[in-house]
Amino acid sequence: MPEQLQARQQQLLTHTRDFVRDHLEPLSARHEDDAATLRQAVVSAARSTELFALTQPRAYGGSEAGVLDLTVVREALAVSGLPARRWVLGPGPGFLAAASGVLAERYLEPLLRGELRTAFAFTDAREGPGTVARRTDGGWLLDGLKSYVTGGADADCFGIIARIKDGEGSLFAVVDADSPGLTVGERFRSIDGSHHATLTLHGLFVADDALLGAPGSGMPRAMKQIGDTRLAMAADACGLMQYVLEHLEQHLLAPHRSGAPLADREGVRLRYAELRINAFAARSMVYRTARLADAGENVVNEGIASKVFCTETLGHLVDTAIQLEGGQALVAGHPLERLYREVRVLRLAEGASDLLRLNLARGRFELGKGRI
Ligand SMILES: Cc1cc2nc3c(=O)[nH]c(=O)nc-3n(C[C@H](O)[C@H](O)[C@H](O)COP(=O)(O)OP(=O)(O)OC[C@H]3O[C@@H](n4cnc5c(N)ncnc54)[C@H](O)[C@@H]3O)c2cc1C
Repeated sequence: MPEQLQARQQQLLTHTRDFVRDHLEPLSARHEDDAATLRQAVVSAARSTELFALTQPRAYGGSEAGVLDLTVVREALAVSGLPARRWVLGPGPGFLAAASGVLAERYLEPLLRGELRTAFAFTDAREGPGTVARRTDGGWLLDGLKSYVTGGADADCFGIIARIKDGEGSLFAVVDADSPGLTVGERFRSIDGSHHATLTLHGLFVADDALLGAPGSGMPRAMKQIGDTRLAMAADACGLMQYVLEHLEQHLLAPHRSGAPLADREGVRLRYAELRINAFAARSMVYRTARLADAGENVVNEGIASKVFCTETLGHLVDTAIQLEGGQALVAGHPLERLYREVRVLRLAEGASDLLRLNLARGRFELGKGRI
């Protein structure tokens, strides 16, 4: 465990480990084949603990934990390797964090109570056209095609980013799923098991009071939300790395038909040590970034670096662990087979690795920004 955790974080760590042992593991085993029941059971168990409200704002009864607190908790949950870990932390405000007045009442409050499902429509369809917003009386008309909106088929409302036509920047609209001019396409599934949909916007009217922030401020607002998610993904990835390493260790120490455990082979040891070094580097990066964020620093670059490095490292780690564990790790239902599918999407979702690398380079060469 990274050194110098404060008493509060130590307490959260103990609490999270206890929750994994007492609830997450037994519930996951009991409801293995029934995701809906498992989700309900995990949410119900988590609700009676302090973990559930950690991501929720104080103004709404949550404890609004710091970045390091959440890093510790997310990592400790992911060490379990259990998919149900994603339901332990209650719904956070997400893109509605800055909502106030009517938007807060109508969307944010029911979201935090678990009564409303949102989805984030950011990525334009590969073939285009890019989503645009045109000024009209009392609001905006949106046209475009959004792809890969996670949870889109089940969402009650969407946060939509659209470039302002003949103007500066983008706007961030909050739109009900049943709005005229909005068509939710068919639900599709990616290899990690998550569900998504496309959105077609055709003359979709958005009133001025359904915008988050001022017109033109949509992109920085969206990037803040995406930046927070990247840090969460990096912490989760670090926990999964530990899970995989522990799994691999047990396998390498077990008897092998060659007469000696694989852990006795020097070639295997070299591979194993490399994985541990990379996992250590990834964790160091994530904890440093979390501390900087809690100190009020701008961590956009550190967040990008952590997301790219942790998800790429995790992908390599799972891949190598499968190679060292052999064919049994590729049997459907094996934990590493499931993780292989789960972690592959992380290198694309919330920013493809190469595009994030380009952002970093642009920060240095064109903008003269960035600490790393
Ligand atoms: C599981 C999952 C969940 C997702 N959830 C959401 C969601 O909820 N909301 C949402 O809005 N989006 C979501 N996305 C979409 C995701 O953000 C995009 O897939 C991602 O940003 C990459 O965009 P793209 O798929 O259009 O690929 P492209 O942008 O076409 O990029 C494909 C590849 O081309 C290369 N490339 C592209 N542009 C450049 C360039 N300028 N220079 C050099 N190389 C380049 C890179 O190698 C890149 O990986 C999700 C995706 C996944 C896989």
